[in-house]
Amino acid sequence: MRLTRYFLPVLKETPSEAQIASHRLMLRAGMIKQAAAGIYSWLPLGFKVLRKVENIVHEEQARAGHIPIQMPVLQSADLWRESGRYDDYGEEMLRMKDRHGRDMLYTPTAEELVTDIFRAHVGSYKDLPLTLYQIQWKFRDEIRPRFGVMRGREFYMKDGYNFDLDYESAIHAYNRHMVSYLRTYERMGLQAIPMRADSGPIGGDDTHEFLVLAETGESEVFYDSAITTLEFGEREVDFDDRDACAAIVKEWTTPYARTDETHDETLFAQVPQERQRRSRGIEVGQIFYFGTKYSEPMGATVQGPDGKPVPVHMGSHGIGVSRLLGAIIEASHDDKGIIWPEGVTPFHCGIVNLKQGDEEADAASEAIYSSLKALGLDPLYDDRDERAGGKFATMDLIGLPWRITVGPRGLKNGVVELTSRRTGESEEMPPEQAVERIAQIYAPHFSSGSGVEPMANRSFHTWL
Ligand code: ATP
Ligand code: MG
Repeated sequence: MRLTRYFLPVLKETPSEAQIASHRLMLRAGMIKQAAAGIYSWLPLGFKVLRKVENIVHEEQARAGHIPIQMPVLQSADLWRESGRYDDYGEEMLRMKDRHGRDMLYTPTAEELVTDIFRAHVGSYKDLPLTLYQIQWKFRDEIRPRFGVMRGREFYMKDGYNFDLDYESAIHAYNRHMVSYLRTYERMGLQAIPMRADSGPIGGDDTHEFLVLAETGESEVFYDSAITTLEFGEREVDFDDRDACAAIVKEWTTPYARTDETHDETLFAQVPQERQRRSRGIEVGQIFYFGTKYSEPMGATVQGPDGKPVPVHMGSHGIGVSRLLGAIIEASHDDKGIIWPEGVTPFHCGIVNLKQGDEEADAASEAIYSSLKALGLDPLYDDRDERAGGKFATMDLIGLPWRITVGPRGLKNGVVELTSRRTGESEEMPPEQAVERIAQIYAPHFSSGSGVEPMANRSFHTWL
């Protein structure tokens, strides 16, 4: 993309309404615009990152064997009356009537709707296990929407639902979700720690929240620092292997890690003192096992092996897709702006032409731009007729992890500069070598089928 052809409405001033870095930076980098309290339009740069995050979620769900669907945002109240949640949910549910006076609502979550799909179409234990999920907009009329996309009223969420014959199978589904979430967050450059949590209004026995450590997080967390040294990495996991999934879950749930809701001082005191940490965290996901809470009242049964109907065991599993953008920025920024991890960066690399209009600098910049594109990479070329300082400031603000700087002086010696946004370190090298280096940096993301691969280069979404 050439910056002169793009729509990147960066702000010079720091918006006064934004209290935390991610909110300020998303507004300043022209990623989002508030449409109403807690409701945002996604501008090109923000939309691009949102899609990358979403794509990683889809790919990792596909890897775990989960099946994507799409359910409507507007739902009839009738199903929610069956489960009893229409009255229980309270003010957070946005309710409305259609022209016939029927009660409708904007989905805050979708257990009822997916259970209705299940009971209509699945009749036998032989059709299990089944996990359906969607990534869809949700609405919760939060009393205090704040921090931009972190606590919106409208937000984008992955919600998945497992249907299993018995407790053991449902716990395997729970474990499978935990394992796939660990991999999902790591691909986004995040460490999200599973912490034992409280089940809240959805109700349930087993639940973990995934928290990204950040001073600005809304949850108070207590953990053994040993958990922060765990890494999922490139492990190959057979998601049908119950023992393998359980072993990974054990690895991550053995060190103490809890939110304030479930924190236990006596247990925490058993963690060696030098490893005890009290901090804050951002909840970017949650998994629940809740058994037959919905299947029983809604009559979602299957015929068991003995021919008798049994209510299915269920769980629901969420990822805060839009909140993740805020969490990634909270975890990765500096005074100058955002620092995107390679896995989710909106463009792979920036090209800054120090002297637009200079024949050689223009030609070299164009050549780098087209070579990167020919390799399937997605560069952003700042081809504006602007001072170098302004161009650097924009690149630093929008946070592309790599920048190639092209100027007449370097070109006289046959070199351009390759700069890491994270370390600020620069290296001079011939233009072809800079292109080669960028290709190498992103190679692992391409071969693992990561979300950094431009959608246009895909046969089609691999997760469908
Ligand atoms: P919170 O405790 O932050 O209100 P929750 O526990 O009610 O969230 P869940 O029902 O677990 O939310 O939803 C799954 C995920 O959706 C959460 O882990 C979070 O990342 C995200 N999420 C929930 N509420 C919001 C919101 N208002 N704005 C943005 N993301 C949200
Ligand atoms: Mg939650």
